[in-house]
Amino acid sequence: MTLLDKFKDECGVFGIKPHPEAANMTYLGLYALQHRGQEAAGIVSSKENKLACVKARGLVSDVFTREQLDRMVGDAAIGHVRYSTAGSNSVENAQPILINCQHGQIAVAHNGNLVNAMQKRRELEKIGSIFNTDSDSEVILHLIAKSRKSNLEEAIVEALSQVEGAFSCVFQTADKLIAVRDPHGFRPLMMGTLDEATVFASETCAFDLLDATFVRELEPGEMFVVNNLGMRTSSKPFEARPMRQCIFEHIYFARPDGFMFGEYTQQYREDLGVMLARESGVDADFVVPVPDSGVSAAVGYARESEIPFAFGLIRNHYVGRTFIEPKQSIRHFGVKIKLNPVRHLFEGKRVILVDDSLVRGTTSRKIVKMVRHAGAKEVHMRISAPPTTHPCYYGIDTPTRRELIASSHSTDEIRRYIGADTLEYISIDGMLQSLRNSDPEHYCKACFTGDYVIPFPAEGGIEV
Ligand code: SF4
Repeated sequence: MTLLDKFKDECGVFGIKPHPEAANMTYLGLYALQHRGQEAAGIVSSKENKLACVKARGLVSDVFTREQLDRMVGDAAIGHVRYSTAGSNSVENAQPILINCQHGQIAVAHNGNLVNAMQKRRELEKIGSIFNTDSDSEVILHLIAKSRKSNLEEAIVEALSQVEGAFSCVFQTADKLIAVRDPHGFRPLMMGTLDEATVFASETCAFDLLDATFVRELEPGEMFVVNNLGMRTSSKPFEARPMRQCIFEHIYFARPDGFMFGEYTQQYREDLGVMLARESGVDADFVVPVPDSGVSAAVGYARESEIPFAFGLIRNHYVGRTFIEPKQSIRHFGVKIKLNPVRHLFEGKRVILVDDSLVRGTTSRKIVKMVRHAGAKEVHMRISAPPTTHPCYYGIDTPTRRELIASSHSTDEIRRYIGADTLEYISIDGMLQSLRNSDPEHYCKACFTGDYVIPFPAEGGIEV
């Protein structure tokens, strides 16, 4: 669960071949990737060389039954957890998407967002394609189905060469598992091994749960094929593009216990807190994280500033997505049901609140009020990301530009809106200098800079 005022997670993908319990392993892999999408989940596996799909809205633990998994007996499977970044949240849009075409049965699980999906879809509809979903991922399958290439891998390359944007995909056919990462490398795609099997997953935490061994990340523009004989081939069939890995994966989306784009996520988040303390230190009695998103940065901030760390806001871990609101109004009810201040800690104290992002400002405003109401004398808000001024077109569900408070308000105006004594964000330079191993040039930072490596076509259907 996240608080209300956050960028939304995107999707998670998983694939494995050959393994005698492929569907079970995929179920567990999706379980570990649940944070990347909670709206729907699905698995495609094979039985007697025929692919079959089980998918539904809901969490991984709710979607699949023991009986369904027992019926998925093939040695290969792919899976997907979805947050709807493009297309509505209907079960048709859940993935994997499975089709039958001239190349046989093909299923895809896709993480990312195609910026020219609408344009491609219109072109395909004009020549007779009929779409079953409004997901951008289905465009990829239609382009494959239409390809005249006799070889499936070539058809996939031809299809993916026509789309622009972010795609980390796993494809399954009757006899192959194929993983592909787009040439910019926006979204992660990890490769590992489990006994004889090759395993792909959006994040390394999926390997940890299975006791699989992490081997490496797929490179941007790489295609990796595992065939029925267990043979593995890697190629780079796409035109090279500038690498643009999503820096927000490090800041917020990825699970902290993982390794991605050459960095340990938890370590990077703590380093952001260290940098934030150097850039915008302030005298205070406590450093308090906004749970859970601000915890790692607050640890780093407290260490660097030598101000004591305290869990001053306690999260209720059992809040569902909806609850019955009281008829009588309760002040700050929406936030209070998720967070509660540790009163004695705040009384008469100067507090530094640390969070990893401030999107609309609405939740920060409620938290600051709550902390003041608990008796805090001063409230200083520190954000371990730079101001988010622009929406994302590459697979993260962001508010429209005018809903992003930093797109139209100065830091001081936002400070006044949220009611803090001071408000500071980490600088873009500070965010990049905190990377220990990777090249800052290899990252997308467009939601902080507006510098989009792929422009978004006007008819794309996303409001800016
Ligand atoms: Fe990530 Fe922001 Fe780039 Fe989107 S715009 S890919 S959220 S860095």
